Order: sequence, then structure tokens, then C-alpha cells
Amino acid sequence: TDEEEKVKSFEELRLKPQLLQGVYAMGFNRPSKIQENALPLMLAEPPQNLIAQSQSGTGKTAAFVLAMLSQVEPANRYPQLMQLKELNVERGQKISEHIVIGTPGTVLDWCSKLKFIDPKKIKVFVLDEADVMIATQGHQDQSIRIQRMLPRNCQMLLFSATFEDSVWKFAQKVVPDPNIIKLKREEETLDTIKQYYVLCNNRDEKFQALCNLYGAITIAQAMIFCHTRKTASWLAAELSKEGHQVALLSGEMVVEQRAAVIERFREGKEKVLVTTNVCARGIDVEQVSVVINFDLPVDKDGNPDNETYLHRIGRTGRFGKRGLAVNMVDSKHSMNILNRIQEHFMERGQKISEHIVIGTP
Ligand code: ADP
Ligand code: MG
Repeated sequence: TDEEEKVKSFEELRLKPQLLQGVYAMGFNRPSKIQENALPLMLAEPPQNLIAQSQSGTGKTAAFVLAMLSQVEPANRYPQLMQLKELNVERGQKISEHIVIGTPGTVLDWCSKLKFIDPKKIKVFVLDEADVMIATQGHQDQSIRIQRMLPRNCQMLLFSATFEDSVWKFAQKVVPDPNIIKLKREEETLDTIKQYYVLCNNRDEKFQALCNLYGAITIAQAMIFCHTRKTASWLAAELSKEGHQVALLSGEMVVEQRAAVIERFREGKEKVLVTTNVCARGIDVEQVSVVINFDLPVDKDGNPDNETYLHRIGRTGRFGKRGLAVNMVDSKHSMNILNRIQEHFMERGQKISEHIVIGTP
């Protein structure tokens, strides 16, 4: 997208006054990267079709909700907005006065068999989390059948966190004449995150450094990553002894247990979440201000795992908020790992790590 087409503020979008108020009430100060690029297109006259991809937690849903609400005509008391998405629970599917939200199967029934909805009156059609959605058998075909019932001038939008071939092919089938926005991971993170490392000699010193860090600065919420389950449970226990409220997210938990731990952390019931790589996938906790690599991420051969590094520290520093990442280094070997991670990101023009001393013993 050209620089001129981006917006740097919500004011520039000429949203309806109530919507702009709503945006501020939500505490949004400025558009995220995907919103900068997508909103001008979605709110253009005539509204544009769009296929957009960016990592989860980057503001896609907020973007299309704004686009939808900009187009609804409240005086017309029938559904004008339609959102298809994957729902793993039945609750959440609904037809309200102006909006329809449901899985492709349900919405198809509402449109065809049951005739609850007149698809010809839909003005904005959104396929959310397309990558997740098409993983379910039948959803692609059902979505396409729904899409064919919609009027020609209906705005069609598709969002996905990832963009494998299958998603891409589906997107092109279901969104005619699309504008396309893809954000690379690297563009989304790192530049607003301050990264530091702390030199220690062993695990106990790393723990001491961590305590000193907590003694020195106020940390609202932090995620701490360990390499093994064993280290994670040890660290969680030690931190509890120091009086911290600690949550442990562990590989042996069943899905429901994990979800409960994440939910409690998200609600702020615990201030520290200790976890391993495996567990960290797919967790979105936007308010985390500090990420600590108690162990640096390495793959199974002991080589630096750059993707995981990005993934971990990418949970902080969202929406231009300043994030902080601290890497604990405890040997020549782990310093070497960190250097290689730095080199990897420097090649991509990303600045990394300054050394700090936080009173290690
Ligand atoms: P996605 O759909 O890409 O996963 P969401 O739209 O759900 O992302 O946004 C993730 C979180 O960030 C939500 O809590 C949302 O309220 C918040 N958010 C979205 N846009 C902004 C913004 N411009 N400024 C601040 N917070 C935002
Ligand atoms: Mg979303």
C-alpha cells in the first residue's frame, strides 16, 4: 500500500461521531498497522473488497467492526451485516436486529431453509479467521453458497492470521476484485520493543537477577519463558516463595486447564505467567508489558529459534505501547545463541538487545 493511503489517526477516517467516541472509549489512541492500511479501503466510497492477513491480536476484528458499523443504517430494522466465523461453542451465534453472526452452516440455514434472513439486504459480509474456519469440513462450500446469495454491491471482507495456499485459494474464490493486504510478522513487532540481556553464570544467578529486576521496577504483568517443564515448575515455585502471584502454564495440562490459567492471567488475577514454548502458542494477552526469556529459545538441535523469539517478545509492545523484553544469558553458549538471534534480526534491519546490569551477584 502507498504511504499516502495509510491513516495515522482515527480522526482522519471521518468516522461517524458516535463511532469515534466509541473508539476512544475503548482506549484506542491510534490505528494499528493493519488498521492503518485496511480502514481507508474499507471505508472508501464505494466501499472496497478486501483480503487481509496479519497475526492475531493486531486489530483485525476491531477494524472490520468499525467498517461494519459505519455502513449500517439503524433505521432499517433488518440484518445488514453478516459475519461468518468458526465457533467452537454454540453460544455466540446470533441474529440481532442489524447483524448476523454464525458459522457458515448455521447462517446458510438461516438464509435458505429457514429464511430468517434476506441475504439480498446484506451490505457487509465478513469472513473472519478464515484460516481456522476452512479447517472445518464443509465450511468452504457453505461460505461460497452464502456469498452467491448476496447482492453484487455487498462489501466482502476476509481476514486471516496466516496465509497458506489453501486460505489464499479460498479467499480468491469468495472475495471478488479484492484489495490485498499482507503484513509480515517482522513488520508488526520488534520496533516498539526494548530488548535487553542480563549476564549471569547459572540458573540461581538468573533467578537472583529476576528478583532484582522485580525489586527495581514495577512490572504490571510479565510472561516468563523457560526451556523445560522442569525449570518452569521450579521457577514458579521459587517466585511464589518470594511472594509473587504466579501462574504456571504447563504441558501436561489438558486444554480446559490451560484455558482457565490463561483466562485468570488475562483477568489480572496473577501477575506472572511462567511457561514453556510449547504452551505459549496461540496465547494472546495484550496487556503484557514485559517478556522474560529465562532460557533463550533453541530448537531441538540446540540452534537459535528466531521464529519463537519473535513470537515470544511479540506479545509485548502492541499498538505502539512500549514493550520490554529481557533475555537471561547464563553461559558462553547462551551468549552465542543470543548473538546469532541478533544477527538474524539485524539482517532484517531490526535493532536488538542492549546489555543491562541489574545487580547480579
Ligand atoms: P485480531 O482480530 O487481529 O486478533 P483484535 O481486533 O481482536 O485483533 O484486537 C486485539 C486486542 O487489541 C483487542 O483487545 C482490541 O480491543 C485491541 N485493539 C484493537 N485495535 C486497537 C487499537 N487501535 N489500539 C489499541 N487497542 C486495540
Ligand atoms: Mg480477530
